[in-house]
Amino acid sequence: MRIVVLAGGIGGARFLRGLQRAVPDADITVIGNTGDDIHLFGLKVCPDLDTVMYTLGGGINEEQGWGRAEETFHLKEELAAYGVGPDWFGLGDRDFATHIVRTQMLGAGYPLSAVTEALCDRWKPGVRLIPMSDDRVETHVAVTLPDDDPTGPGERKVVHFQEYWVRLRASVPAEAIVPVGAEQAKPAPGVLEALAEADVVLFPPSNPVVSIGTILAVPGIREAIADAGVPVVGLSPIVGDAPVRGMADKVLAAVGVESTAAAVAEHYGSGLLDGWLVDTVDASAVERVESAGIRCRAVPLMMSDLDATARMAREALALAEEVRTS
Ligand code: GDP
Ligand code: CA
Repeated sequence: MRIVVLAGGIGGARFLRGLQRAVPDADITVIGNTGDDIHLFGLKVCPDLDTVMYTLGGGINEEQGWGRAEETFHLKEELAAYGVGPDWFGLGDRDFATHIVRTQMLGAGYPLSAVTEALCDRWKPGVRLIPMSDDRVETHVAVTLPDDDPTGPGERKVVHFQEYWVRLRASVPAEAIVPVGAEQAKPAPGVLEALAEADVVLFPPSNPVVSIGTILAVPGIREAIADAGVPVVGLSPIVGDAPVRGMADKVLAAVGVESTAAAVAEHYGSGLLDGWLVDTVDASAVERVESAGIRCRAVPLMMSDLDATARMAREALALAEEVRTS
């Protein structure tokens, strides 16, 4: 079975681990979000690609969900001693090596997709990980900075998504979200081919706006999914009207979508989604989703451990099968 998964960081990576457990023989291609990418200290950092690579490759910091296990921060401290920032982005020593290798290869002319493949030669994630695009896309967020903000108190400004998420901790409303560069970006080599050959497409419980939404903003990808003629099934990242982790409600509000499992399904729409899983606590949302033309089931959606996550993956594939045979 050929499965294509559109993935952000933590939510996508953890789901993928369950999917691998559920269907060990499946051929899995992951289209990764690169809208979170940022240049720091002259290095190209790809947080979501690395979270998937480290999680599936056994190098992730499990408690944190991102960054490397057994990490140290000497380099960061040395940079700070020179007064060189930003100090709000936690790059550890082990992690730095990944960004150095990536930046060096990009500088030598390799596209991000080839670089990602080379990095995965080490980590062996067991999936084919492809960035959504080789072209630079960076999500930016329009905000009014807090009154006590050191960089510009009360100023209206557009900041990089990482600055909004990590430095500001989404403490002010996201007034607009712009995936800068997405409109001009082309899908990376392999993306459209994987979609054309897929038996099923899954949306893990990743952020619908700044993870999956950004991937869908690359011209051609949304169309390729809709045209693939195979079941497209998603799992809600919203459980009990709130994100399980993180601040997805802030970015959903920016695009005018309420933070409910049903509203996220409607946001994707029946033109894209065939099936949607909501958590059992949101069972009352099933009817609303189905009346929007999307087949819906309520099942436990907490990725509390690998077995629970594998059960979620099996439910998603079962729903896909139901769609296929209906
Ligand atoms: P990020 O790039 O690291 O933010 O990760 P993703 O975009 O892939 O996933 C973030 C989303 O995962 C958040 O909106 C969370 O609500 C969701 N999430 C995290 N853990 C769980 C879980 O156990 N169950 C469900 N249903 N969603 C989860
Ligand atoms: Ca992310």
